[in-house]
Amino acid sequence: MSEICSTCGLPKELCVCETIAKEDQLIGVTTEKRKFGKQYTIITGIDTKDIDMDQLCKKLKNKLACGGTVKGGKIELQGNHKQKVRDALISAGFAPETIVVR
Ligand SMILES: [Zn+2]
Repeated sequence: MSEICSTCGLPKELCVCETIAKEDQLIGVTTEKRKFGKQYTIITGIDTKDIDMDQLCKKLKNKLACGGTVKGGKIELQGNHKQKVRDALISAGFAPETIVVR
């Protein structure tokens, strides 16, 4: 007898609930070009209930030596920090496998 998942009612080996939950928690890093050719690094998918966004933004700004703001549950950093932002997030306590740099 296989165990049944209490969330979806499927046998545990067919259950994808955990996978879905993990994918929901993925942190996305993208860059965006705005007016005057300015580049921004946008960080999305951070759980604003668990994370103090202002604190995290401050940490990232220090680490990357750039300006930035928290806007609508996203962190926007000035400049293109694609290469370094992953390390900065990891040192802020995020798991490497949850960070997706696009
Ligand atoms: Zn399930």
